[in-house]
Amino acid sequence: MEKIHVNASKSYDILIENGLLSSGKAAEEIKAVIKSDKVFIVSDDKVAALYLDMLSQKLEAAGIKTASFVFPNGEHSKCANTYIRLLNELAKEKINRKDTVIALGGGVVGDLAGFAAATFLRGISFIQIPTTLLACVDSSVGGKTAIDLDEGKNLAGAFYQPSLVLCDPDLLKTLDETNYKSGMAEVIKCAILGDRAFYDKLLKKSISNEEIIARCVEMKRDIVQQDEFDFGTRGLLNFGHTFGHAIEACSNFEVPHGIAVAQGMGIMARIAYKNGLCDKDTVLKTEEILKVYGLSYTTDYSLSDMEEKILSDKKVAVQNITLIVPRKIGKCELYPLPLNELSAFFSKGFEQNA
Ligand code: NAD
Repeated sequence: MEKIHVNASKSYDILIENGLLSSGKAAEEIKAVIKSDKVFIVSDDKVAALYLDMLSQKLEAAGIKTASFVFPNGEHSKCANTYIRLLNELAKEKINRKDTVIALGGGVVGDLAGFAAATFLRGISFIQIPTTLLACVDSSVGGKTAIDLDEGKNLAGAFYQPSLVLCDPDLLKTLDETNYKSGMAEVIKCAILGDRAFYDKLLKKSISNEEIIARCVEMKRDIVQQDEFDFGTRGLLNFGHTFGHAIEACSNFEVPHGIAVAQGMGIMARIAYKNGLCDKDTVLKTEEILKVYGLSYTTDYSLSDMEEKILSDKKVAVQNITLIVPRKIGKCELYPLPLNELSAFFSKGFEQNA
């Protein structure tokens, strides 16, 4: 079993092992960290149909009482309405400050359950069991929790670390192709961002899901430990996300997050190259690995439509925007740019022979 110790503002373990859930080991690990004999499991309907009974039964067998809240799957559920319903359910179940919320699901479940755990009774313990590749490699690590508001994604939330993360790659076997690819985009992001050897292994497909998750988690942990509250270097994790978020918004969130991030990485690599920040090989290698995993590296949306979304994004400071540019495979940098230089900088990457 891969055990990764995370020591940000709060210390906790991330365990990565095939069969954690079905073997009952997850229940034992949970029992070892909870402060009472009761947990409240949050899941979406698709994941609950697959894994909720298995988890509840293993927990009950380990002497832990369970209650649960299941909501319709999809990003639209990560909203104030579901959040308030969840808080009310926690209150109705008389969950107290020693009890624990368990998120069983993808990034939507993790973000929503985490925000509820952070705010119910001013904060109760929280455990993540990520069930999508994206949640295993990205959203379950780092302590960001949030819900979406009418004005945009993730606008209300909290930094709130879990007490344990349990990744069981066996659960990914039921994931559909689009969601698997979406997670792979975040994996590829990690490789381009900071690990050339990891890139090479991914390109050759000579690496298991367990290894993939472990490497991404280590990288995210290391970056988050330097900048837990996202004032600087944590921004590197947003490689591909400037255009990725814009593409998601242009598509009215029809294009899944990772698919949009893949396109955003391709676009940003071309822009970096045309502005003299990396060589052509970096662009070709970015495109090559995305292609190997069936991900597209371009978009049909126009630059002006995407630029409009980028400028309305909450992360844009008044006078400057910080882009994340690849310098070579395995190294990205934060690249602050005055807003009045943005259009010219972007346009170069969209010239015909880019
Ligand atoms: P998701 O949670 O919506 O899951 C995608 C789909 O897969 C859903 O339909 C879900 O029911 C289904 N699913 C989940 N696990 C399954 C399994 N094992 N088998 C079959 N189906 C399964 O989406 P996601 O891609 O996991 O997460 C996206 C969310 O994560 C976004 O809201 C994004 O903002 C957030 N996010 C958060 C962070 C963070 O740091 N907190 C980082 C990245 C993304």
